[in-house]
Amino acid sequence: MSEKNVLSDFKPDGHNHEACIDTALATASTVCRERGLRLTPLRQRVLELVWQQHMPVGAYDLLDALRSDGRRADPPTVYRALEFLLENGFVHRIESLNAYVGCGEPKHAHSAQFLICGNCNRVAELEDPAISQIISEKADGLGFRISQQTIEVTGLCGECREHAPA
Ligand SMILES: [Zn+2]
Ligand SMILES: [Zn+2]
Ligand SMILES: [Zn+2]
Repeated sequence: MSEKNVLSDFKPDGHNHEACIDTALATASTVCRERGLRLTPLRQRVLELVWQQHMPVGAYDLLDALRSDGRRADPPTVYRALEFLLENGFVHRIESLNAYVGCGEPKHAHSAQFLICGNCNRVAELEDPAISQIISEKADGLGFRISQQTIEVTGLCGECREHAPA
């Protein structure tokens, strides 16, 4: 698989994560401006919270974080913001964890493949058209129409493998 299919690699501890957050927020603001979408302060804050780490975050953790901001937020507030972010490709939903993760490349719609570390919960995002293509062909062969295609693969990331007992 070539590098260009990796939208978001496993990030090492101590990388400049502020830069990741800044890039994600700047990209979202550009995309919203181009498409005439409204990135309200709440939507932007939820996106920032999803990006706090390269790990999926649950809706209730987002809710807690919003409340500790001093916002009066309830679950529908969070779900509406997440729906906006999902619809516009700024975040992806990791079904197996019932959680959300920031998208590494929200400028164009794509089918994503996720590698999820079962130890540290870090996630890498791939977008390999060859993988989506094979699945589409198999689905076609069965007369199946795909509405959404996300692949979630669990395992151990390189860093966790290094520190895992042999
Ligand atoms: Zn980062
Ligand atoms: Zn993505
Ligand atoms: Zn790991």
